[in-house]
Amino acid sequence: KINLFWFRRDLRLEDNCGLHKALQSGVKVLPIFIFDREILDQLSDKKDKRVDYIHQALEEINQELNKYGTCLKTFYGKPFEVFEKLTEEYDIDTVFCNNDYEPQAIKRDQKIAEFLATKEVKFSVHKDQVIFEENDILKSDRTPYTVFTPYSKKWKENINKIEIENFQINGNNFFPVKDYKEILSLKEIGFEKTEIEFSKPSLDSKIIDTYDQNRDFPAMDHTTHLGIALRFGTISVRKCVKFAQKHNETWLNELIWREFFMQILFHFPHVVTQCFKKKYENIQWRNNEDEFKAWCEGNTGYPIVDAGMRQLNETGFMHNRVRMVVASFLTKHLLIDWRWGEAYFAEKLLDYDLSANNGNWQWAAGCGCDAAPYFRIFNPEEQTKKFDKNLQYIKKWLPQDALLIRPIVDHKQARERALKTYKEGLAVE
Ligand code: FAD
Repeated sequence: KINLFWFRRDLRLEDNCGLHKALQSGVKVLPIFIFDREILDQLSDKKDKRVDYIHQALEEINQELNKYGTCLKTFYGKPFEVFEKLTEEYDIDTVFCNNDYEPQAIKRDQKIAEFLATKEVKFSVHKDQVIFEENDILKSDRTPYTVFTPYSKKWKENINKIEIENFQINGNNFFPVKDYKEILSLKEIGFEKTEIEFSKPSLDSKIIDTYDQNRDFPAMDHTTHLGIALRFGTISVRKCVKFAQKHNETWLNELIWREFFMQILFHFPHVVTQCFKKKYENIQWRNNEDEFKAWCEGNTGYPIVDAGMRQLNETGFMHNRVRMVVASFLTKHLLIDWRWGEAYFAEKLLDYDLSANNGNWQWAAGCGCDAAPYFRIFNPEEQTKKFDKNLQYIKKWLPQDALLIRPIVDHKQARERALKTYKEGLAVE
């Protein structure tokens, strides 16, 4: 008999709950990873930085596993078909993995679990990606929270009642493999290498200790850039939370926002395609394609917006403060459907995560849970004065000639138009 450990959004050996449990099961463990065709074939950019990131993380895992006398077996295909083959090849007792809460992943896992059951193989799923899962933090009437502040209060109360574990692994319990195999190359899965060498994620106290004071100033770049590591699990969230508890409460709140939006997506999966607050579906978006293109390319004539979009296009990252400004600009000033902006971010962001992206876009558009009221519209110039007063961020990302672009809309008129359109939309019964 053999056990499998299936890596997904937990690409590390250190402090990995499911892997720890698998290695304690008493049956030798073979680690696997599936490059899921159903996801990868949808990506149009064959130099997708996130695929390269995953690949680099897997190479590192494979090297570490070699030291334990085993290797990471990788596959390219549909997970269901891969498991059909694996059950023929091996006498499997249990497939271990960590829970994934996105709607597609839930469907995939149900299908796999059902199939494995027909082969009398157990499917053992563990909590690793979050501290608290969707049903761990509920209101007293057992319904989910939809407002952040009481959710975070309960989250903090509950964390004091538990001990945050560190799931070390026992390297002696891997299934021994004689000829170590390389993992599948990027080419074999239809992708190419990018120029980026990703560094190992780490918790930097220089950033985190003063996060609350500096996080809002984009030129300082004083946030951790750990989004991608949390997305693919190359860092343990338990380790982050323990660090945050000691170092900075504001940073801890950000990690709680992450879990807040995850449980929203779980309990209200309609948000993937629809407004959390359904009556916002009546807003008459203008959806002007030329204006959308100008926004995407950073040619709106609003320097803070354009600098942000250019940072995103060049690096796959945008500072949070600027994300809020560009999202507000798209949905309010240009009256373009938040779903267009969400999709563009999904394509470009290294740290793209369905729950956080969707939750924040709906927040910006005013249609989400616990969103900013729609009549609070960011003024790009005021935001610049407050958060980039020496124009350092703008100058970094915007070439001189881009400063000459004429504003695509007048702030005052656009603001009034947005207020009117939202008001009319919300008045529809
Ligand atoms: P830090 O500021 O160091 O925060 C640490 C971690 O906390 C982040 O890496 C992230 O995992 C989490 N976090 C922080 N802020 C939020 C938040 N508002 N909501 C949920 N989690 C948060 N974040 C994503 O992880 N993926 C996305 O696709 C994403 N899309 C966004 C879209 C818009 C329109 C906006 C306004 C925000 C979006 N965010 C998203 C939230 C936030 O901007 C990023 O998490 C943050 O900028 C990433 O930088 P960092 O890793 O340096 O984070």
